[in-house]
Amino acid sequence: MNEIKYFDHAATTPLSREVLDAMMPWLTDNFGNASSVYSIGRTARAAVDEARAQVAKAINAKEKEIYFTAGGSEGDNTLIKGVAMAKRAKGNHIITSKIEHPAVLETCKQLEKEGFEVTYLEVNGEGKISIDDLKAAIKPETVLITIMFANNEIGSIQPIAEIGAIAREHKILFHTDAVQAVGNVPVDVKAMNIDLLSMSAHKFYGPKGVGAMYIRTGVVVDKLIAGGHQEKGKRAGTENVAGIVGMGKAIELACENMAENSARITELRDYYLAQVEEKVPYIRINSGKEGFLPGTANVSFKYIEGESLLFMLDMKGICASSGSACTSGSLDPSHVLLAIGVPVEVAHGSLRISIGKSNTKEDIDFLVDTLVNVVEKLRAMSPLYEDFLNGKYII
Ligand SMILES: *Cc1c(COP(=O)(O)O)cnc(C)c1O
Repeated sequence: MNEIKYFDHAATTPLSREVLDAMMPWLTDNFGNASSVYSIGRTARAAVDEARAQVAKAINAKEKEIYFTAGGSEGDNTLIKGVAMAKRAKGNHIITSKIEHPAVLETCKQLEKEGFEVTYLEVNGEGKISIDDLKAAIKPETVLITIMFANNEIGSIQPIAEIGAIAREHKILFHTDAVQAVGNVPVDVKAMNIDLLSMSAHKFYGPKGVGAMYIRTGVVVDKLIAGGHQEKGKRAGTENVAGIVGMGKAIELACENMAENSARITELRDYYLAQVEEKVPYIRINSGKEGFLPGTANVSFKYIEGESLLFMLDMKGICASSGSACTSGSLDPSHVLLAIGVPVEVAHGSLRISIGKSNTKEDIDFLVDTLVNVVEKLRAMSPLYEDFLNGKYII
């Protein structure tokens, strides 16, 4: 077994040791239910509230505007469906983009079946929506704009503050799936006029299965999970105290070290792209630099299949992704790559790497050397490549 070289931080991150240490007491001695009135319940409540303060501070929200969930997908579902239901009498139109995460796209599709109309905005070659398109899509019936902060496959960051300003001007609610952004780039819900936001702890070195929603004071959202009065009646279910404490610790650490990590990771990403460009012919770089997440790089290797590439990399201990973890296993090319104009055949040979805080320059060298080797082998077996060499096929 090779040593694992992990380049898939957009899929999930390893739990920090410090985060685990902060969680341990809440998994062992301090097992109280945060809603109970006796002392071990009250200490659990205090720990949940401290984590709420840590999460609020990280995005410049108030503590009472933060609600814990079981992750990013739940936050997206709750906020989008919750607004749609609460605003049904006012209007039935929602604006989103073509490159959202499935947690948003599938939620919008469900709402279409319920009689909502959804506009899916196009993006340009850099994976960004156009503000003019957004303005043109707004109708009197529009009740929600939901546009992701940063894309999980190519790392493009949307003009969030501009979208927020337009939404506010038209009195339309603005939700952003900020799962890839929180902990990696600065997020300020007040300065950016964000009304609703979802995030997830396992994308910033916290535990899996816990997340948070920001709901601006005064915004009404119907609840998705009904039951007890936890999270001020907005999300029923006994609090995941250890997970919540871990999330608070993880977000605090991510924000403390953001500038430093981001600078180092950006340098590694740029080095990777330069090396691949220099050493591997016939590629297409699908991600950019300015206005993109620090650690995400997406490259198509023409004339080969991404799935075979992943398999061969795995044999060398390299963990990467062909698109998003949520869609691997399906053979459809990525909806995000198609939306930015990558031809179908080229999209099939794509590799997303997402660099994290523990990766080193040596890791990147190992990855690039392996890629040079593996891509050459796969092309040698590829009928498409043979056609290309014979001048029959050009992409
Ligand atoms: C990972 C991810 C999600 C889903 O979050 P979970 O906590 O895994 O449910 C949603 N949106 C984006 C952009 C993501 O990257």
